[in-house]
Amino acid sequence: MSQNIDLIVKSEFIQSYKDGYPLLSKESISNLDTLKEQGQIFNLVDAKKKFIAQAYYGIQNKGYGWILSLKKDEKIDSSFFEKKFIDAIKYREDFFSDKSTTAFRVFNAEGDGVGGLSIDYFDGYYLLTWYSEGIYVFKQEILKALKEVVKYKGIYQKKRFDTKGKYLDDSDDFVCGAKASTPLIVKENDVNFAIHLDDGAMVGVFLDQREVRKTLRDKYAKGKTTLNTFSYTGAFSVFASLGGASKTTSVDLAKRSLPKTTEQFSINNIDASAQDIIVEDVFNYFKYAVRKKLSFDLVVLDPPSFARSKKHTFSASKDYVKLLKEAIQITSKNGIIVASTNSANFSMMTFRDFISRAFKELRGRFQVQESFSLAQDFRVNPKFKEGNYLKVVFIKKLT
Ligand code: SAH
Repeated sequence: MSQNIDLIVKSEFIQSYKDGYPLLSKESISNLDTLKEQGQIFNLVDAKKKFIAQAYYGIQNKGYGWILSLKKDEKIDSSFFEKKFIDAIKYREDFFSDKSTTAFRVFNAEGDGVGGLSIDYFDGYYLLTWYSEGIYVFKQEILKALKEVVKYKGIYQKKRFDTKGKYLDDSDDFVCGAKASTPLIVKENDVNFAIHLDDGAMVGVFLDQREVRKTLRDKYAKGKTTLNTFSYTGAFSVFASLGGASKTTSVDLAKRSLPKTTEQFSINNIDASAQDIIVEDVFNYFKYAVRKKLSFDLVVLDPPSFARSKKHTFSASKDYVKLLKEAIQITSKNGIIVASTNSANFSMMTFRDFISRAFKELRGRFQVQESFSLAQDFRVNPKFKEGNYLKVVFIKKLT
């Protein structure tokens, strides 16, 4: 067997790698150019060539690869991945036995010990997402390991190789086993979701918002007029409606959002024609709503971290205050704004600060009701806190 090549860690970074920091950063290595091919396994060593960790080379927007093991002799083969999967499944035992929820994350990349790979479960089907060409090199070992430890109906994949995490539509996403029906109906806290495993980058639901949807339904929606912005397939609207919202309005720029949202309503026996589903730029909709003096009791803001439309570029880190100000103006007194972001670029503290700034600039007052970060199945590596990207705050508008 060929010897792993050595990458020399600069002295100031040694301790954090020893402590379990999982991401290979450019600044931490003095001879990064010795890496040749993605998927290559190498050793991190100190200046005296003393072993620190084994890692693989895989280029993502986050960094250049991920630490796999702090043991020098551990082989990175299918039994290595098998151990990781067994541990991941054990950690989620409650999810596997919960009949009211049949969609959740089984393996959350570095949170479960292998950065660059996530696996989601949809009622017996497994969806693997590869975040770099580097991790994809291990596809055979990873599939072998997964098949060894789970009973599956079928396996699907998404390749999100390029450095912006963009989806590669170069082939069929079906890998093996049986094909899922289209749509595949899964459950989340007894609500149906239509999942399309082989229809582009996104399958129809963002699993990381499960707790937020449940909270919205069980504690906030009853009798409320609800505006769901950046609504995608209308998941928040469906939960609000099932929680007794008097009416929902879903706004998304993408044309697909209309049939997709209609589908989500109808599989939950909600009359979609009694709900508003609007295909439009959210920022135009806000202008329209202000002009028409509309106001809502409950407003959900869940924008992408970054998006470019014909007229606007939205970046959560730069523009969230502006977005909040637009929303505050059309929220009724004592109404609730659910402000959400999946941007890993800023912390919960900064996000809270955005909220304060927005209200201050409008001379309004607010009260935070509760907040959320990632749910248990989106396991986070305690040494990599930035992996907990989700920030959701329920805000009550007082004046
Ligand atoms: N809140 C959704 C997920 C949002 S995904 C859920 O819980 O399922 C982001 C969505 O924002 C995409 O559907 C995209 O089409 C939409 N989007 C991006 N920019 C937009 C804009 N300027 N106006 C309206 N929708 C936009």
